[in-house]
Amino acid sequence: MSINPKDLPTERPSSFNEKGKRNFIHPAVVKGTFRKYRNIFYLFLILIFLVVPWTQYGGEQTILLDLSHRRFVFFGHTFWAHDGPLIFFPLTLAAVGLLWVTSVWGRVWCGWACPQTVFIDSLFRRVEGWIEGDHIKRRALESAPWTMSKFGKKVLKWGIFFVMSAHIAHSFTAYFVGAKELVWITLASPTENLDLFIFVQFITLVLLFDFGWFREQFCIIMCPYGRFQSVLMGRESLAVLYDEKRGEPRRGVDDGSGDCVDCYRCVQVCPTGIDIRRGVQLECIACTACIDACNDVMKKTKKAPNLIRYASVSKEEGKKFNPFNLRSMAYLTVLGILFSTFTFILMNRKEYDFKIIRAVDSPTVFVQDQVSNHFYLNFTNQSQKPIVLTEIKLEDGSVVSPELPKELQPGDRNKIHFFAKVKKGLFKDQYKLKKKLFIDYQKGGVTYKIESEVSLLGAKN
Ligand code: SF4
Ligand code: SF4
Repeated sequence: MSINPKDLPTERPSSFNEKGKRNFIHPAVVKGTFRKYRNIFYLFLILIFLVVPWTQYGGEQTILLDLSHRRFVFFGHTFWAHDGPLIFFPLTLAAVGLLWVTSVWGRVWCGWACPQTVFIDSLFRRVEGWIEGDHIKRRALESAPWTMSKFGKKVLKWGIFFVMSAHIAHSFTAYFVGAKELVWITLASPTENLDLFIFVQFITLVLLFDFGWFREQFCIIMCPYGRFQSVLMGRESLAVLYDEKRGEPRRGVDDGSGDCVDCYRCVQVCPTGIDIRRGVQLECIACTACIDACNDVMKKTKKAPNLIRYASVSKEEGKKFNPFNLRSMAYLTVLGILFSTFTFILMNRKEYDFKIIRAVDSPTVFVQDQVSNHFYLNFTNQSQKPIVLTEIKLEDGSVVSPELPKELQPGDRNKIHFFAKVKKGLFKDQYKLKKKLFIDYQKGGVTYKIESEVSLLGAKN
């Protein structure tokens, strides 16, 4: 069942009837400045989503979440399972970034960048409109009896919805298995990669259900971000607001009273089925459709635009919009610290990581005039190519390492035993001796040298 925009309930969301069942919302098409910018921005986001898996950076897919090999490639940087703690930075940056954006621009994420809004608004609703007609025809079709024509329209619509959902699901999966690999997997029999096949079908069905049918219900009853709005937004945050002082009392076109002509156009275009004239509501995703709709009405009635507009409570009180208020500055400070720390770590990240650990079983052995210290070299290959550890050398001494040379594949971590030997006489009147240690390795046919230090234990002479 669908609902008439003029009969919105006040005691419950308009997308539910009094028995708690779904009222379908059929928003009208809207034209205007925000609509134009939203179309461009949505197209840009969809293109990024579709194209990025096909791009390469530094010889690897630009962004790849290779879960089966427990590695994550991001613009030429490869992270392995042991880099897990680093995930703290991108996650916290995204979370605090969203808090900051919300505190300044309100629900701009929901209306302009959330995949839910982007895909439904720019693809699914558009296809629905082409097949079933405008909001009035769609509402009539919904309550009409089943005929061949209605059946044909529904089959065609859901068929195209399925193809679009499958395409989005495959593009999403390409971020996990690699775009090129996915093409080969798709061309092969499903039984060869059954788990992946089931995963893609599952994602397709979830998207089909969500984008094709569930839609605004997800924003209203499921999205956790939507629930936090009242906490995240302050008096300075921008929101889509109706100018009550100017609009009320709602009357006819030329009788000198409020500017709102009570045409319900703002309600007709709202994808979550609300009347913005009732004030800020949790269901509002700040999509700006009502701004465009009302501006069109204002133009026709020769009144000033922006009866519905982006505003904030403090702006309503006459204060200037200040995106750098105290709360915003606090978020920006945290973002700055996180970002610079993360950048510093990335810039200083080497293609290897190693630790030299003293062996606990037989750490020091005296053989004739020599002292031998037993160590482990814990070496991790953090590069995208194999590394061959060729030799370990010691200043004023020698090293015996039966395990060298040793090849480590990308992401491999290995423990290598070695014995560092020096002459007893070097200890003189001390028990400990610090000496330089050199680790040689080869990568891509080139030899590299790492300089480190070990603390040798011995005996006073
Ligand atoms: S009230 Fe306006 S901005 Fe909010 S969801 Fe509805 S149309 Fe979009
Ligand atoms: S579109 Fe504008 S004039 Fe029409 S009902 Fe909404 S606020 Fe009033």
